[in-house]
Amino acid sequence: MSIIAIVGRPNVGKSTLFNRLVKRREAIVDSVSGVTRDRHYGKSEWNGKEFSVIDTGGYVVGSDDIFEGEIRKQVQLAIEEADIIVFVVDVEQGITPMDAEVAKILRQVEKPLFIAVNKVDNAMRDADAVEFYNLGLGDYYTISSINGSGTGELLDAIAEEI
Ligand code: GDP
Ligand code: MG
Repeated sequence: MSIIAIVGRPNVGKSTLFNRLVKRREAIVDSVSGVTRDRHYGKSEWNGKEFSVIDTGGYVVGSDDIFEGEIRKQVQLAIEEADIIVFVVDVEQGITPMDAEVAKILRQVEKPLFIAVNKVDNAMRDADAVEFYNLGLGDYYTISSINGSGTGELLDAIAEEI
């Protein structure tokens, strides 16, 4: 079964997307820190294709330095483990140095990669998403993990790769 890994820095909405995709609340979403405490796996299905989903980035750590290293580790692990990668970024924050850092790693990966610009809750935010072309990873999908808009199109594209 194909494994899809959701990667990205903390607070972009990875766990919210995971919960939406697996339709079961298995991950712990902490709205204060945006940090999920565990790595979670779930199963899902779309357009008749079954797949597992990994929610990454689930550690609470003290310093920013460790944090960045931890994220890098999680991304590497996800890349090794997954067949398909979904890189989540946040339209509210724009591109942060940590996003650029993750993008640098992902640019070297030869696996299907989808960029999900999250928190595009309304059409006005679509225009703000264009800055994510600057990640140098090509085209992206705009989604709202909270209200579900755009997630169907993203899943259609993912299912094509399975
Ligand atoms: P993670 O750290 O990447 O797993 O992020 P979470 O899923 O824990 O979400 C972090 C915060 O962003 C939470 O307060 C979520 O409610 C919020 N969030 C997630 N997705 C969306 C979205 O599509 N729109 C908005 N406005 N907020 C979102
Ligand atoms: Mg999380």
